[in-house]
Amino acid sequence: MHQYIVLKIEMPSWNTTEVIHPVVLADDNHRVLIDCGYAGSLPKIEEALIQHGIMPQNVTHVILTHQDHDHMGAAAAFKRKYPQAQIMTSVIEAPYISGEEKSLRLIQAEQLQQSLPPEQQAFGEAFCNMLRNIEPVRIDRALTLDEELPFCGSCRVIATPGHTPGHISLYLPALNVVITGDAMALEKGKPVIANPQFTLDLDLAKASMERLFSIGAETIVCYHGGVIRKEDVIL
Ligand SMILES: [Zn+2]
Repeated sequence: MHQYIVLKIEMPSWNTTEVIHPVVLADDNHRVLIDCGYAGSLPKIEEALIQHGIMPQNVTHVILTHQDHDHMGAAAAFKRKYPQAQIMTSVIEAPYISGEEKSLRLIQAEQLQQSLPPEQQAFGEAFCNMLRNIEPVRIDRALTLDEELPFCGSCRVIATPGHTPGHISLYLPALNVVITGDAMALEKGKPVIANPQFTLDLDLAKASMERLFSIGAETIVCYHGGVIRKEDVIL
């Protein structure tokens, strides 16, 4: 059995509701959760897994595509409750997620804070504080870029820098699916650069999105926006 399951998790965030799409890869020996949601989203992740017949205590691995709080915010809580799950991310992102290095998003937010107009200062400060309170998580295995993992036949790590320097996406040839993380987002059915204003290197991000398209997979799953089929892509 080789299967991928797209979860749909709704989280209140500031004055809106964010919808995110972690993915589970399932084969005879593995249950792999790709990205782990916001701080506080563990109960929703557990609920979504169980709804799809995946017991959280059977999750063997968690792959974090990058260091952002909406992807790794619940990873420490997940690991505490389900210590069997091996936490993995790219070798470049690992020190930011494990807390050895200060989060690049926090550095960016603190720099932005100085140029915010007075009416946005309070929000900016609250955002920085939220990032400061994200719990780091130890990385059990740092992935080299372009590594091949033994999930669902083959799960290829694709380096997709730009959004963050060590961002990774995943390609599963047997399932004909690409899981983008934030290397691509869907807005109204259109693939776009996720949050271009916060993208750390826009040129790299564009090249990464091209790299994902060039794979030609039948299905693309975006963490923000969900599933798009090749034939539905509007460029
Ligand atoms: Zn994100």
